Formats: sequence, structure tokens, C-alpha cells
Amino acid sequence: MTEKKLRQIAIYGKGGIGKSTTTQNLTAGLSESGKKVLIVGCDPKADSTRLLLGGLAQKTVLDTLRETGDQVALQSIMKAGYNGIQCVESGGPEPGVGCAGRGIITSIGLLERLGAYTEDLDFVFYDVLGDVVCGGFAMPIREGKAKEIYIVASGEMMALYAANNIAKGIKRYALKGGVRLGGIICNSRNVDREIELLRAFAKELGSHLIYYVPRDNIVQHAEIRKKTVIEYRPDTRQATEYRQLAKSIDENTHFVIPEPMTQERLEEILVEFGLMDKVEDYRI
Ligand code: ADP
Ligand code: MG
Repeated sequence: MTEKKLRQIAIYGKGGIGKSTTTQNLTAGLSESGKKVLIVGCDPKADSTRLLLGGLAQKTVLDTLRETGDQVALQSIMKAGYNGIQCVESGGPEPGVGCAGRGIITSIGLLERLGAYTEDLDFVFYDVLGDVVCGGFAMPIREGKAKEIYIVASGEMMALYAANNIAKGIKRYALKGGVRLGGIICNSRNVDREIELLRAFAKELGSHLIYYVPRDNIVQHAEIRKKTVIEYRPDTRQATEYRQLAKSIDENTHFVIPEPMTQERLEEILVEFGLMDKVEDYRI
């Protein structure tokens, strides 16, 4: 048997863009095709694995450490969810206290010491909070854990601003380490000409639009039931879309050091696609 090569992937994107929903659905898709997956939630909201665990209140790594001290058992912070996907939530400090990125550093270190990164794993996904790749939230890529990044974006202006900022962060770490951008995932907001816009945006970064995920209310119906769409309605079109996204990531060979845009260039594109009126209006 050939040895498996573990792919460690970080998912970035503006808050609320759909990182956690998309990550859980696509990993559900990967698990269906026999892949072994670990998800490490890197958001103090600790909702990166809720749909896979059926809402099971997963105790975060930081909360567990606070309560039980250093003697933590792996099974108290890592739980198997849908189709055997392993689920971890890093958690965060109490609001307003300390650096929120610390949880990620602590969690990854602890997971390594406790032997969570087993040889049978195909993928580790880090679902990372944030608009910018800064400080603690850059941890998965700064420390060379995740070598592969996907940015979730949509055709909305703020999502694209955030994506471009994230690309700046990735470039910084790519030059030092081996981090690469694997593509842009469009999680649709039903903006006019959204696919063309995201294609143009991704191309400008030197990357590609790896998949366009349609907006569909079934995502909310599944969410209310604390399930991924793949588990809740495996026969729907949206479930198929997530499986296709999983396949695209599994088969992806397009990895680049992104070339982030200047503010001016980004705004030119937004004007071209009708997301902005005239660039002059936005300059002081
Ligand atoms: P993030 O993790 O980036 O903060 P979430 O994954 O929590 O964002 O998604 C925010 C909301 O958007 C969720 O309530 C989810 O139901 C909704 N959502 C995400 N993707 C889709 C989609 N493709 N269609 C419809 N709703 C979606
Ligand atoms: Mg999230």
C-alpha cells in the first residue's frame, strides 16, 4: 500500500461568509468517498463542527484545559461526528481577555502531543475566524501546519476586500514557508454576474475559482436540524454541489503564491462589475 500523504488545509474568509457550513459539508462529502478527516475549529464561537456532531456541545480545548489542567485525554477534546469525521473546537479566551489566537496555538500543540494526527488521516481542515490573517489567526499557516489555503468569498464587496487582505497575509507566509493558495470558493449571495466576477477576482490573484456553491435555503433547513445538507438531504442538488466541491479540492493541483491586488485595482474590478459606482467617489 502506498503511504498516505496528509493534506492540511486552512479555510479563511470574512465572518459569516459560510466557512463553517461549507467546510462541514465538503468534509462530509470527502468522508463519503472514504477519506479520513479531522476538523479543527479555530474560531472562539466554537461552531465549526456543530453540524457534524448533531449539535453535541463539544467542549473546547481551552475550556477543558481551564477545568482539568494539563492532564487532558484525547477523547475529551476530540469527538467523532458524521461518518467518523474527527471534530475539535479550539475555543477562545473569556471575552475581552487575552489573545483569541492563543487557543489555536495551544490546541494544535496539545493535539500533536496527544497523537491526534494519526497516520490514517487524509485531511486536516482548520476553519479559521477572521477577515485578516494576523497574529494568532495566522497560526495554522505561520507554523507551517496548513500548507494549503482556500478562501471563501462571494460577489459582495466586503467579502472581496477581506479575501484580498487574506491573500496579502498568505503571500507573506508563502514567501517564508511553503504555504500556497489552492483557490477561491464562491459561496453565492446571488449577486449579478457573480461567477464571472469571482473568476476575474481569482485570476487577478493568480489563482482560480475552484468551485461555485449556490445559495440554497436547504442549508438553513439542515442547520435547524443541526445537520449538514449531505446528511439531512443526501439526494438534493445542494448535497451534490458539496460533493463536487469536495472532489474539486481532492483533485486540485493548482497551488500558487497569490499576488494580492492594490486597492485601486480591486476597486476597478468592482466598478467593472457594477459593485461600485465610480472609483473617485470612494477616495478621500
Ligand atoms: P462563517 O463560518 O464564515 O462565519 P457560517 O458557515 O456560520 O459562516 O455561515 C453563516 C450563515 O450562512 C449560516 O447561518 C448558514 O446557514 C448560511 N449559509 C452558508 N452557506 C450557505 C448557502 N450556500 N446557502 C444558504 N445559506 C448559507
Ligand atoms: Mg464559522
